[in-house]
Amino acid sequence: MNPQSFLVTFYGVRGSLPSPMVGQDVREKLVNALELASPAHLKTAASREAFVDSLPAHLKSCYGGNSSCVHLQVGGHHLIFDGGSGLRVLGNHLLNQEFGKGRGEAHLFLSHTHWDHIMGIPFFVPFYRKGNKINIYGSHPRLKERLIGQQSFDYFPVSFDSYLADVDIISLANQKECVLGDVRITWHEMNHPGQCFSYRVEYKGKSFIYATDSEYKDLGDKSLKPTIEFFKGADLLVFDSQYTFIEGVEKEDWGHSSTFIGVDIALEAKVKKIAFYHHEPTYSDFKLVHIFEQTKKYLKAIGAGSPLKMILSQEGLTLDMLKG
Ligand SMILES: [Zn+2]
Ligand SMILES: [Zn+2]
Repeated sequence: MNPQSFLVTFYGVRGSLPSPMVGQDVREKLVNALELASPAHLKTAASREAFVDSLPAHLKSCYGGNSSCVHLQVGGHHLIFDGGSGLRVLGNHLLNQEFGKGRGEAHLFLSHTHWDHIMGIPFFVPFYRKGNKINIYGSHPRLKERLIGQQSFDYFPVSFDSYLADVDIISLANQKECVLGDVRITWHEMNHPGQCFSYRVEYKGKSFIYATDSEYKDLGDKSLKPTIEFFKGADLLVFDSQYTFIEGVEKEDWGHSSTFIGVDIALEAKVKKIAFYHHEPTYSDFKLVHIFEQTKKYLKAIGAGSPLKMILSQEGLTLDMLKG
């Protein structure tokens, strides 16, 4: 790892539970892609490849079906936000590096302990290599008991305290910040059943925010001020946008938000880029793209001239925070 880097990679972007693509999803992508093809596109292997490469992400690929997990390589450290099913994929990837030799160290920050944010932990292979060091951070009481509970013998054959790696549980409840070399991490409580915390990571003047699972009720309410303050000026805000706007109203108190609220909040906090995240598991990629197009129109209508950039989080996507 480059010790000067600040890279963000998405490994799990779905909310609530993993939702792999099914045959009907693949068929819909194929039919839509073929409608765009001309005979010239299909002529040679090279033209077919070039045609596929030219297609939009939702036709040539998929946004992903794993639950919450984002990996940061920052200042020479591996920081991981949430241990959803995407953590399994990240673990396999890390095995090619020092974690495969039992010389890796990772810092796993949990937003909360709902299943979709911890279910990948038992499948994170670096835990099963002697010599690795994994620090797990969270603000919730009885954090270790919760993780042990998930792996009680009734539910999983390997217990949480039998890992070969050195595992440390670090409570953030009585701390205000966590400093790892030149990297500073702070956190803020969100509005979600069972308490959820967002995290802010700062390094070399750039700031990343991981803000999953939260409901923002009344944008005019002063209770939102501390959250806006916490998000202020972020270079990248990863934001829970599980619902459409209408569903966000219908599902009041379910603890989630929408892309439209995300735009309101990002504009208010002068965020530079927002990554919509924790996608609803029942939405196809077509629906995600449709909502995203509507959100672009919304930004144009209410934030004309705003430099805010927006993306849909996609598994495998890496963003370089130091390159704007
Ligand atoms: Zn969730
Ligand atoms: Zn949750």
